[in-house]
Formats: sequence, C-alpha cells, structure tokens
Amino acid sequence: MIQFEQVNKYFGDFHVLKNIDLKIHSGEVVVIIGPSGSGKSTLLRCINRLETVTGGKLIVNQTDLTDPRADINRLRQDIGMVFQHFNLYPHKTALENISLAPRKVRKTPVDEATKQAKQYLSKVGIPEKADAYPAQLSGGQQQRVAIARGLAMKPKIMLFDEPTSALDPEMIGEVLDVMRDLAREGMTMVVVTHEMGFAREVADRVIFMDEGMIMEENAPAEFFQNPQEERTRRFLSRVL
Ligand code: ADP
Ligand code: MG
Repeated sequence: MIQFEQVNKYFGDFHVLKNIDLKIHSGEVVVIIGPSGSGKSTLLRCINRLETVTGGKLIVNQTDLTDPRADINRLRQDIGMVFQHFNLYPHKTALENISLAPRKVRKTPVDEATKQAKQYLSKVGIPEKADAYPAQLSGGQQQRVAIARGLAMKPKIMLFDEPTSALDPEMIGEVLDVMRDLAREGMTMVVVTHEMGFAREVADRVIFMDEGMIMEENAPAEFFQNPQEERTRRFLSRVL
C-alpha cells in the first residue's frame, strides 16, 4: 500500500529524511515513535504529498508520487489524516463537518451524506452530538469527530499525527479506543504517537526514528522487550 525506496528529503540545506526504506502492507498498523524533530511528521506528510520528496521513490496505493503526472487529488481521496489539533470548521456542526467532503468532493447527495455522517458519528461513539458545534464539544469528542470526518471519505489509509497529544489525560483513552476499533477492522494505519501502551497493544510494527533515519523497526513485543540500538534504548528509558 505504501512503499518508500531510498527516500530523501531536504528543507533547504537541512536533510530531514535520510534514505528511508519502508513498506507498509494493506491492513497493517505501523506506529512511528521517536524524539521531537526526528522527521516523523514529515515522513507522514510525504504519504499524502503535503510534502514532496527530494529523491528516491515513493509509491502509495499504486500511485508513484515522484511522477509529476500523478493525480494527487485522487490520491488524497483515499487517505484520511488526523492531526494533533483537530482543525474542525468552527461554524459547522459535527454532522456538517463530517458530510462536507463527501458532498463537495465525492458529490454524494446531501441526504445520503448526512445519513452516512450519522453512522460515522455513531461509530466514534457520540451519535448524540450531531448538531453540536466544535466549541460545545470536549477535546476528545472533537478529535472523534475529526476521525469520523476522515472515515467519511472511505479512505484506504488513515494517517494519525499525534492524535492524542493535545488532549487532557482523561480523554486520551476514548480516542485510542476508536483507533483500536479501526485497526481491528483492517484499516491500513500509520500512527505517530507517544502512547507506548497503544503501540505495544495495537501495532503490527513499531518504527523508531531519530535524526531523519529509521533506526530500528520490529514487532512490538520484540521492539519493547529487546531493543537492538543504543539510541532506541535511551529513548525508551525516557518515555516508558
Ligand atoms: P517530528 O514530527 O519528528 O517532531 P518534523 O518532521 O516535524 O519532526 O520535523 C523534522 C525537522 O524538520 C525539524 O528539525 C523541523 O524543524 C524541520 N522542519 C519541519 N518542517 C519544516 C519546514 N517546512 N521547513 C523547514 N524545516 C522544517
Ligand atoms: Mg511531529
């Protein structure tokens, strides 16, 4: 589903991604961890072409992103992204936030889009919030609306960039529960997070990044019990 081959990226002179090789299969859940500034968000943003790569090859859902003729709008319809800050439209209700893209981009008729939006709102556990505006929702509820909004486009891949980092501790669990359900249903997911419990329990594979490189990757049990690299051990000793 996603294939990085010797991908490099620079911001000016700054070498942010270094020789990234990474294959993610359909239905796989990959969690990316690593210190701040190590390139995790940049790697994620390359997948939906919010960032362009400087060298190497990147293929996502059979689209070669390094080909200038690649249909980026088409690509993005198949990829949902959830950010740390929920970025909901403040003057639209939960239901309107969720149904907007299907109506505008997929041209789904309004009745159908609204019906589906209600289903996604139920799926994330807050059907009673259909007519609430973002300011009337807690952070955890807003993030669940943001996930429902991503799902409404029926994506093949969901990208999560620190989806719980801006939340109060008591709301983290409800968002992780929604993500866990999605993983169980077979969604292809790439998740940047500091939630090591989630990584251990839900990931098929954990990737540790440092200074723009993939330093280590492994199945979670092996990764957490028996990290191979000194830098991984040092990082884990600080976050666990
Ligand atoms: P992470 O998500 O792991 O914290 P990022 O991918 O956000 O790391 O950033 C990696 C590095 O690239 C950081 O040093 C950051 O300052 C730098 N960086 C990120 N975006 C840009 C940009 N648009 N222009 C220049 N430098 C950037
Ligand atoms: Mg980041």
